[in-house]
Amino acid sequence: MGSIIIIAPPAAGKGTQSKLLSSKYNISHVSTGDLLRNEIKNGTELGIQIEGIIKSGKLVSDEIILSSLKTKIKQLKNYILDGFPRNINQAIKYDQLLTETNQQIDYVFYIFLDKEISKKRIISRISCNNCGRVYNTEIEESKPKIENICDNCNHNLIKREDDNEESFEKRYDIYIKETQPLIDYYKEKNKLYEIDGNLDKKEIFGKICSIIGDEIDNS
Ligand code: ADP
Repeated sequence: MGSIIIIAPPAAGKGTQSKLLSSKYNISHVSTGDLLRNEIKNGTELGIQIEGIIKSGKLVSDEIILSSLKTKIKQLKNYILDGFPRNINQAIKYDQLLTETNQQIDYVFYIFLDKEISKKRIISRISCNNCGRVYNTEIEESKPKIENICDNCNHNLIKREDDNEESFEKRYDIYIKETQPLIDYYKEKNKLYEIDGNLDKKEIFGKICSIIGDEIDNS
């Protein structure tokens, strides 16, 4: 029994690959960004507290993220973690949680992408507020069939409040300073696989699947 972690800069395809993996291997997709955005959408106390932080591109506190995540993953057997851990402290706390719950990490995929490409993708990204599907108005195969309407659920597409140039700079900066050190952390544990995020999404998915193989060990 194990889990998969995906580490990547903004817009490298964490969410997209997680959704594809979740449906191929029939395992849960846990996105900390989605967990937090749902709190905001539902107007919860936590949502009100974190709205400004997310909009500005900063990270919410490790305490908040760990307590939301703990509740979620305790109910699951194995899962894909998208957006967590985002710094060394979160990784250490997560290792403690894995020991407590007798779980383990099987694969950590690091999808690398240049800053300029990451920025371009963020600026032209739109997403569905209802089902979470992501589109890109500058990439032909990622455009919605009908302008501003979700192919999946027919809801209107929106621009995420943190998908603007100013928040992007902050997010990228934090990514380099806080998240990238995780690459060495997982390399030392022999769990890390590096994937080129410049490839198209099907090629990236193919590479990930060739590493995992036909099935995830559910025993
Ligand atoms: P992206 O992959 O596009 O950077 P996410 O959807 O993963 O965006 O996260 C959006 C925002 O949610 C982050 O910028 C941050 O404010 C918050 N967030 C998500 N995951 C974490 C985390 N593990 N720790 C702290 N903040 C987080």
